[in-house]
Amino acid sequence: MRGFLFALVRAARSRSRAELQTVQRRRPSDLAQRFSHSAAAPERPSFGIAFDIDGVILRGRSPIGGAPRAIRRLYSEDGTLKIPFLFLTNGGGVPEHRRALELSQLLGVNISPTQVVHGHSPYRELVDRFENDLIVAVGKGEPAVVMSEYGFRKVLSIDEYASYFKDIDPLAPFKTWKVEQETNNYMSAKVHPSYDVYSERVKGVFVVSDPVDWGRDLQVLCDILSTGGLPGSGKGDQPPLYFAADDLEYQAAFPSERLGMGAFRIALESIFNQINDHPLKYTSYGKPNPFVFKNAATILEKLVMSMYPNSQTSKEVKDCQFSTIYMVGDNPEVDINGASKAGHPWSSVLTRTGVFRGNDNDPQFPADTVVDTVEDAINYILEKECIR
Ligand SMILES: [Mg+2]
Repeated sequence: MRGFLFALVRAARSRSRAELQTVQRRRPSDLAQRFSHSAAAPERPSFGIAFDIDGVILRGRSPIGGAPRAIRRLYSEDGTLKIPFLFLTNGGGVPEHRRALELSQLLGVNISPTQVVHGHSPYRELVDRFENDLIVAVGKGEPAVVMSEYGFRKVLSIDEYASYFKDIDPLAPFKTWKVEQETNNYMSAKVHPSYDVYSERVKGVFVVSDPVDWGRDLQVLCDILSTGGLPGSGKGDQPPLYFAADDLEYQAAFPSERLGMGAFRIALESIFNQINDHPLKYTSYGKPNPFVFKNAATILEKLVMSMYPNSQTSKEVKDCQFSTIYMVGDNPEVDINGASKAGHPWSSVLTRTGVFRGNDNDPQFPADTVVDTVEDAINYILEKECIR
């Protein structure tokens, strides 16, 4: 089947070459100027690319699939961005500017913070609603720092919040492992004593990244969500609950998939529904939510405008002007399904370096193209778009 697939890819490439020859015969100067900064009237690129990170670009913290070499092809020799692209990941837990720096170091190119879209990036849009409310941020990394940088003013990480309530986690004395405390613990009560967690109700819970201490977090979240935002105070209305993503599994450094935020959501929902007489209400962001793809298209449009400030393009982003945006991902249910649901101009490219390892295409969520690695994906896209 793999041979059959390669034959299909070869056929598509031949088609692209044939199409290119036809177009070149018609409009040679137009194509020559299409992606050149130095041309007299540079035209904006007609395509963009969104890359998933885990299982496509990195496994754990190690680049995979020829990612550094391949990503460098999207830059000019002087290091400036040539092809508009961004990273569209359901992961996160650190501010976007810090992830951009980490990716720049790992891949050897200059990645700007605007090119990093985390699962939790859309939380920015909720600042007005919760700006002065006490909220709890859950997950690995620095979830409270992420939310504070978005503009939320009264944020506590679940670690900090739980630490105020003696005996809230009855298993804590049995947790003998050493927990490294955040050195940048600037949201502590000492610095922000202006609110009292024993009387002020939590108005929103944001799962920013994969929870670390599932047992404690399930307990504390059930407390917050069942009591109207004040553990130990009796039943109350559930405060809003948000998840940055809903991935059941994802590819990390271990050979087989790991349980993701979606698995935690299932656990929390199942337990909450058993101990309450009404179902848990929540909102999930992240791929495959079509909103995420629409948001990514808008960000790519803005990126193109910054790359081509003197182009004819309107200064305002009204509609998506790309003829194609490629989603390169390893997870059929998340990346491919999301691109498919988003529709035009999204086109999906599935790699075999992560969750998907099949010889052929995924039967449930088939991609438009299947390749081995991200390097193959970039080669395919650049050839299809007639970029050398
Ligand atoms: Mg992935």
